[in-house]
Amino acid sequence: MDVSELLDGLNDKQRDAVAAPLQNMLVLAGAGSGKTRVLVHRIAWLMQVEQSSPYSILAVTFTNKAAKEMRGRVEATLQGPVSGMWIGTFHGLSHRILRAHHREAGLPEAFQVLDSDDQLRLIRRLLKNLNIDEKKWPAKQFAWYIGAQKDEGIRPKDIQAFDINEQMMLKVYTAYQDACDRAGLVDFAEILLRCYELLNTQPTLLRHYQNRFAHILVDEFQDTNRIQYLWLRLLAGANSSMMIVGDDDQSIYGWRGARIENIRQFLDDFKAETIRLEQNYRSTSTILKASNALIENNAERMGKSLWTDGIEGEPISVYAAFNELDEARFVVGKIKTWLQGGNALQDCAILYRSNAQSRILEEALLQESIKYRIYGGMRFFERQEIKDALCYLRLVSNRNDDAAFERIINTPARGIGEKTLSHIRDCARHTSQPLWHAAKAILAEKHLSGRAANSVQQFIDIVEQIDDQLLDLPLAEQAKFAIERSGLMAMYQAEKGEKGRARVENLEELINACGQYEPPIEEEFSSPLQGFLAYTSLEAGEGQAEEHEDAVQMMTLHSAKGLEFPLVFMVGVEEGMFPSQQSHEESGRLEEERRLCYVGMTRAMTKLYICHAESRRLYGQEKYHSPSRFIRELPQDCVEEIRIKTQVTRPVAAGRFSSAVTHAAFEDSGYNLGQRVLHAKFGAGTVLNYEGSGAQSRIQVSFDDVGSKWLVTAYARLQPL
Ligand code: ATP
Ligand code: MG
Repeated sequence: MDVSELLDGLNDKQRDAVAAPLQNMLVLAGAGSGKTRVLVHRIAWLMQVEQSSPYSILAVTFTNKAAKEMRGRVEATLQGPVSGMWIGTFHGLSHRILRAHHREAGLPEAFQVLDSDDQLRLIRRLLKNLNIDEKKWPAKQFAWYIGAQKDEGIRPKDIQAFDINEQMMLKVYTAYQDACDRAGLVDFAEILLRCYELLNTQPTLLRHYQNRFAHILVDEFQDTNRIQYLWLRLLAGANSSMMIVGDDDQSIYGWRGARIENIRQFLDDFKAETIRLEQNYRSTSTILKASNALIENNAERMGKSLWTDGIEGEPISVYAAFNELDEARFVVGKIKTWLQGGNALQDCAILYRSNAQSRILEEALLQESIKYRIYGGMRFFERQEIKDALCYLRLVSNRNDDAAFERIINTPARGIGEKTLSHIRDCARHTSQPLWHAAKAILAEKHLSGRAANSVQQFIDIVEQIDDQLLDLPLAEQAKFAIERSGLMAMYQAEKGEKGRARVENLEELINACGQYEPPIEEEFSSPLQGFLAYTSLEAGEGQAEEHEDAVQMMTLHSAKGLEFPLVFMVGVEEGMFPSQQSHEESGRLEEERRLCYVGMTRAMTKLYICHAESRRLYGQEKYHSPSRFIRELPQDCVEEIRIKTQVTRPVAAGRFSSAVTHAAFEDSGYNLGQRVLHAKFGAGTVLNYEGSGAQSRIQVSFDDVGSKWLVTAYARLQPL
């Protein structure tokens, strides 16, 4: 491709960025404005026009998929393979540097990378050595703490622990680090930190890389954390030029330590020039206008405007589903129509806030034999916590299930080590019986040490107790009992952070799934539990499309970053789901949720559906949710509301953006939006919302002292102020 072709297909601003002289640059621009495209063309420009060697280029992105795609796009633009260029993720690139200089980094040649399971096992072992009770001090909490420190570049020696909690964390962090260093192990966060420290303490090495990487380019910069930023800043030598592209409105990993401030810091540290791209090429003007209006509700913004000369397109359809099943039915119906129109499934994406939401959608797609692929997350019945729980149920229903036995004998940890386990395995092999029976035999023959014997006995008791209790209980109660009695629920509840929260939600969702399960009439199962287990094993393997097959793309909003699809469904857009309940508790979280909504909406090229359900069974409970505030923040003229056509017996939500309906509903209530009212218990507040009618109606009031609450209007006895 010659130079003019390189600049063809770019607008003036994009050209300015691609063809800029060698300097530090920030390309700050909204979604779909061609930031990634600029980055790719810049790489080609550097090679073709600046005659830079591929060896001198370092390109960093956030996921392996994005890195692979970027390489593909560079090669397509240059019409040939590029070798010697480093394109990768922060972790991938750091790992590569550590491998090359392991000795200087104080690591053995064959240093091992710990995954999160390995890490937990190691922490557990240490807790035992230190006589720390894991029930009080869960291993996951330490793992979370250690990761967070490393992401900030903080070593044990840098920490001053003031309270008992911090002292405990520090003690384990220190022991953990010692153990890792002795054995030559590095966890995920360590890879980056260790690489940073290596470069920081070895001037010759640093100079080598600084000289080599004359050009550093970073995509999705808004999601870098502190150590990633420091790493970049170190690698950029006096003569390097750095181009970072990003969008402060799409920063969605604050909860994992990402800092939007890094953008300002970069401008300061690098005296960089800012180039703003303002034309969006991805979405219809309707989708763009609505997304822009949404994000304007955030206060902390660097400020950008985005326009398109694309077609207006269809309005955004908002579907008020009766419940989550109805929502799934609606989505699948629309996908069928899409398919009948001769379109490809892969052009269609379903985006949700949390992984637990995928199950109902998976089922609905399976039922219609529509292929799907869950991207960047595990399918529901394949998730660790779900498998753990199912293995208890499997062992309860069949003591000969050796795979289940192996998985859960020491989950949650109850002090059964590899030695005991191999003892049981040997016995099983010699006597040709399943592990369960072998374990009982060994116990009877008193072949185990007192402690090991106790632990194995404890495990056997738990399984038998669950079995005893199951008689006559409905399936959901069985699952609930098993999840609690096994200790799984407590174990995951103790796990700190977003991941732990997600696992607990998933377990609750499993109970919910049991509640909704109806055994197929045509199949004979000796119990509902057996039927359910058969169904889950089918579920875990089938449905998901093969690599080459055309399939609907399903993923969380987080993993949709940077991608685009002609047809997008955002589901579960309800208060309490999205924004999530927790976002009310931590400052800044609501704005981050809004950015996530902005990311979701701006994935859509041609058509966007937003769905919310009046009631939703999730996490084991039926909840009534009002539509997300994010829906209310969309301009009315961009939105078309699809109403429920079925006969509804539950309270009907008032239309939240058809103002006529809202007003009518409010008139019916006798209150006005924004009106000040007094409640006998909660005190003074402001009316926020209203739904339903007559005896069923509910009113939302934001109380000055106790926050926002939904009240049944008839009982609230609010006095106008
Ligand atoms: P995000 O913020 O979501 O990562 P982005 O700013 O990186 O978005 P790109 O993915 O690079 O945007 O581009 C969005 C879409 O617009 C792509 O399909 C891209 O090919 C197209 N595009 C970008 N610039 C132009 C242009 N000048 N002419 C035509 N199409 C363009
Ligand atoms: Mg991009």
